Amino acid sequence: MVIKMDIKIKEEYLQQAMELHQKNPVVDAHLDLAGEVLLRHQTGEQEVVKKYYLPHFKQAGMKLVVSSVYVESGNLDWGWENALSQIAVLKKDISELDEVILVQKRSDVDRLLQENKIGILIYMEGLDCIGEDIDRLNVLYDLGVRGASLTWSRPNKLAVGCCKASEDRQITGSLSQAGVRAIKRLEELSMFLDVSHLNDEGFAQVYQIAERSFIATHSGSRQVYHNYRNLTDEQMKVLASQGGIMGMNGCKYIVGSLSGNHLEMLCRHIEYEVEKVGAKHVGYGFDLCDSYSRASAALQGKCYTDRDDCLLDHSQVPLVSAALLQRGMDTELVKGIMGGNFMGYFKGILGQ
Ligand SMILES: [Zn+2]
Repeated sequence: MVIKMDIKIKEEYLQQAMELHQKNPVVDAHLDLAGEVLLRHQTGEQEVVKKYYLPHFKQAGMKLVVSSVYVESGNLDWGWENALSQIAVLKKDISELDEVILVQKRSDVDRLLQENKIGILIYMEGLDCIGEDIDRLNVLYDLGVRGASLTWSRPNKLAVGCCKASEDRQITGSLSQAGVRAIKRLEELSMFLDVSHLNDEGFAQVYQIAERSFIATHSGSRQVYHNYRNLTDEQMKVLASQGGIMGMNGCKYIVGSLSGNHLEMLCRHIEYEVEKVGAKHVGYGFDLCDSYSRASAALQGKCYTDRDDCLLDHSQVPLVSAALLQRGMDTELVKGIMGGNFMGYFKGILGQ
């Protein structure tokens, strides 16, 4: 299926982007893949990544996809079990694919390029499921998890999240002592820290506490579109000052493309971020959720027909790169934004 985009991309820029995507690493720093695989397995489906994602990943030249383990609010009472199930089922689903590997260490990032593999890096989107039991981070590490955000949009025992994508309200509250210990443990384990869903107080505290670079896997600019899921100019500068990267979100409520001007708004965020903090601190973290939502609805016997994502699927990721090129961005900068920057970050943060 082809959908009409709001910016008409000239053939030459599309060609240039497609070529760049086949010859250079492309990274999506946020996708709720583990949760979707579990939902689809629960409806009796198998080979979910192969069927729903692999063809699009290949079309877009994806090299690394960061899969979140996201526990829905309705599953929090059995959040630990739900998280472990997501991890197990995702690992099983990709273990049957020759083209895909689980990325757990620095050398795995090199393998993606050397052996032309697509990497899946698993991380926790919110640590509600560990409560205050920091040792559970070691259990997650042993299972192959290599990063975490302290919170999703809700408060938990570690910190306070900001609001959901479709809301624009501030939730106040600071990190707990357990939250501070969690950051230390993540750093000891060479796991990356994501601040995308953290509230403003939490963000400031993380900057004081963290000794290793942290990132925002899926956030845009709050100046371009006011939503508490996006970062202020000051937060963007802080993030960049300590070697962090912000992955451009692709959810219309965060991008602010409610009238359908998806590519235009995605480009505006990215260009603004590049101008403010430099291109090497910008990447893609599209958080495409429609497929997850369809799977979730199907499990409840419903049909999901809304559309929250700016892109139809990963096959359209090159359109963003093409739009940036067409609007005059330098090719080298686009190469970093579409994946080079995050590849360098993950290679640096993961252990041997
Ligand atoms: Zn999220």
